[in-house]
Amino acid sequence: MSDCLFCKIAGGEIPSKKVYEDELCYAFYDIDPQAPTHFLVIPKAHIASVAEVTPENAAVVAHIFTVIAKVTKDLGLESYRVVSNIGEQAGQSVFHLHFHVLSGRDMTWPPG
Ligand code: AMP
Ligand code: ZN
Repeated sequence: MSDCLFCKIAGGEIPSKKVYEDELCYAFYDIDPQAPTHFLVIPKAHIASVAEVTPENAAVVAHIFTVIAKVTKDLGLESYRVVSNIGEQAGQSVFHLHFHVLSGRDMTWPPG
């Protein structure tokens, strides 16, 4: 999608601090970290949010979770939170599917 910030980041048009990359997904540090470690994992193909996941495109979501499991192990993170905001009321500000991975501090529940 030509006008999408995260499509541009995944394509290298906008710089980011890479954590991991393969043919299907890209992970990079959040520009406004909410925990000592805070990165985002996105599919390279544009999907607007979890609400747009279908049987046809769901494989990339499973793949992203295998990447989260691997990258967190590689970074030595034993406890972390994975979050995806869907819609403005839930706090979504970039409408390209992304999973936040937050770690390195005590987390509260329920989230605010
Ligand atoms: P959300 O608000 O759940 O849609 O998450 C979007 C996230 O993208 C926020 O945590 C932002 O800090 C982050 N973000 C926005 N622009 C950039 C950027 N250029 N590089 C890295 N992270 C970004
Ligand atoms: Zn996009």
